[in-house]
Order: sequence, then structure tokens, then C-alpha cells
Amino acid sequence: MKYINNKLTIDGISLDSLVKRYGTPLYCYSHNELRTNIINFKNNFKGINPLICFSVKSNSNKKILSEIKKFNIGADVVSKGELVKALKSGIKPQKIVFSGVGKTPPELKYAIEKNILLINVESKSELLLINKIAKLKKKVVNVGIRLNPDTDAKTIKKISTGNIENKFGVNEKEFLKLIEFSKLSKNLNVKCLSVHIGSQILDYRPYKKMLGVINKVIKKSNYKFEFIDLGGGMGIQYEKNSKKLNYKIYNNLIKKFLKNYDSKIIFEPGRSIIGSVGSLISKITYIKKTKNKIFVILDCAMNDFLRPALYGAKHEILPTVKNSKKIKKTTEFVGPICETTDTFLKLSKFQSIKEGDNIVILNTGAYGMSLSSNYNVRPMPIEILIKNRKSSVILKRQKLNEIT
Ligand SMILES: *Cc1c(COP(=O)(O)O)cnc(C)c1O
Repeated sequence: MKYINNKLTIDGISLDSLVKRYGTPLYCYSHNELRTNIINFKNNFKGINPLICFSVKSNSNKKILSEIKKFNIGADVVSKGELVKALKSGIKPQKIVFSGVGKTPPELKYAIEKNILLINVESKSELLLINKIAKLKKKVVNVGIRLNPDTDAKTIKKISTGNIENKFGVNEKEFLKLIEFSKLSKNLNVKCLSVHIGSQILDYRPYKKMLGVINKVIKKSNYKFEFIDLGGGMGIQYEKNSKKLNYKIYNNLIKKFLKNYDSKIIFEPGRSIIGSVGSLISKITYIKKTKNKIFVILDCAMNDFLRPALYGAKHEILPTVKNSKKIKKTTEFVGPICETTDTFLKLSKFQSIKEGDNIVILNTGAYGMSLSSNYNVRPMPIEILIKNRKSSVILKRQKLNEIT
């Protein structure tokens, strides 16, 4: 994304021209950026040759999934709906892993019927249920067991998952018990140890600690795992000068870890693949001046993009047409919804803008559209993809009569 003659463009197409064609709010994805991210991700883990399973919850657009599939990538799903979408996008069952603490009996039955690569089990009850279904269907089901390594991911509390205080996975003692139980069952084949310690991780040290715990637990289990699923969570730069995850160190730590084992590594990245690929374009409905602040009221809201309201996440905002005049007062970008948390960003020196201008919220490809809703009976936005310098609709804008 760059300014050409003061006009913001994605892959050579001006954002304002996209607004004219498709309206706002508008999610726009760049295939160029997607390709770059995937190539970088693969390069970052050179020498490991991992199976990459894209985390569908970060972005579940079918066209996006089918584009990702072309790079030989599988899927990590957390519901039957995501599994159905992944399969419809052409992703092979043998490249799909199913995670989540609350998989229901119908969800498990469906996953077992589809012969997916792994069901990553998160409790004893779930393992017993899988065993029961597998017996009824006279099948052997491949499972992973999710270990809670009790490592602080040092990320936002609300997206940390690898603490013993979190609901995810099982502790070491339970993990070892579940392995023993599975050995006695003819219908269960434990193939994988899985972990996922959280999201938006920018420090390699939690990963280091996690690998240490896994190493210790594998030794104790005296069991050969065909796969070690290290989850996702790799953070991206939402703010210009934020820290960057040191992939080189993480890669070396994994290589060192693998010297002792003959296992295939699985990753489940979401944000690091798709986060920077998407932008949300919105039109300014009103500008409201108050004593201390200028409110810029956008036509997109927390129902379209929830991360700021949900996590206090900060996403850069840029004008689609640049000028050199600055506003002196603080500018706060807000949505129209009757919730105080329906706010996106406060900036101290934004450029001069007016009603009817367009702005873009950056890095909204992950947990953007996938977290959107019809709150306030607002139709969900349109999604477009720019590929080979051409834009096309990959999800139509919802019509009011579809939700009323
Ligand atoms: C959410 C999630 C991921 C993806 O996390 P990112 O931070 O988007 O990479 C991977 N695995 C599991 C089990 C998850 O719940």
C-alpha cells in the first residue's frame, strides 16, 4: 500500500476508486501481500519443512482459503462450520486439524467421518467421547493431545491461552494419563502432541519456554509422536515501531529441539499469514467538534471490526488522499453504534479531513471480517480481493432484507 500523487493505492489501484465501485465499509485484501507473507513464513522456518495449517478462525472467506490452499497449506479449524468451509475451499482432509475445548458430538462425528488429519483433544471427556464414536463407527481415529504448557505468552491477557489458568489443553499429569488410556484403546491412535500458547506473540522467549516444557513431557511419556503441533500466535507489527518476533531464534530453537525427535512440525498460523493482507475502508459520515476533541464518525463500526472494542487493539488509520494540513486537536475515530467502546483510534496530529472523505484502517485481515456481526441489525460489509492488479468481489455485501 502506498501513496501515488497523494492518493493511497493498493497494488496500483486507488482506494477511492474502489470505494466508488464497491461502496463502504469495504474489506480489501491484497493477493500480493498474501503471497509475500506465505513465502516469508516458509522461509522463516527453512530446514524444518513444517505442515502449515492456516487458522481458519482468523479469516474464513472461502476465496481466501482457496487461494491459501494453492500454496500447499492446510487448515486448523475450531468448529464444524469452519471444517465445512475448509473442505468446500478444496483443502484436503489429510491437511486439516481440529482444535477447540468444546467440540460437540455432531462435530466430532462429522470430523471422524471426513477422516481429517488430527483431532486435537483438549480433555479426558472429549477423548472418551471420540473413543465411543470411533468404536461405533469401527474406525481408528488419529488424535493429538493438547498440552497446556503453563507458559505465559506475554501477550494481551485476553488472547493468552497457555497458562494453567486458561481453559485450554490439559496439564502434564493429565496428558500422560490420556496417552496411557489411548494405548489401551483399539480405536484411538495418538499421533500428535499439540500446544498453542496465545496470539500476537512478539517475544521468542515464551516459545522457548514452551519447547522446554514439551521436551520434558515427551521424555516423561516415553512415546513417539509423529507430529508436534506448535500452534500459531506469531505476532505482527500493528504499530510502526513495535517489536518484531525473532523468527531466526525461534527456528533455531525448533531445530535444536528436533535433534532429539523424528517428528513432523505443524504450525497453525492465522494472523501472521492474513493480518497485513486486509484493510478496512470506511467513509466519514460526520465530523463533530467538541471542546477538547474532534470526533470523526465513520460508517464502519464495532460490528464490522471488533478488535479495538474487544481487546483495545490499536490499528493505524490513514486518509485515502493525503494533504499537508494538520488538525491541532485530538482526533478520535469512532463508529456509529451506541456503545462507548465503539471507537477505533485517537490520534494527536491527523491531517485535515472533511465529511465524505475516506479513510482506511490497516492490518484488518485477521480477526476482522471473521469477528464481524449483525449487531444493531447492520448488514455485514463486502469483501474484495486484488489479484494481478484487478479487483473482484469475494463476498457480497449483505442486503438488509437478508437480515430483517
Ligand atoms: C487462534 C488459534 C490459532 C491462530 O492464532 P494466530 O495468533 O492467529 O496465529 C492457532 N491455533 C489455535 C488452536 C488457535 O486457537
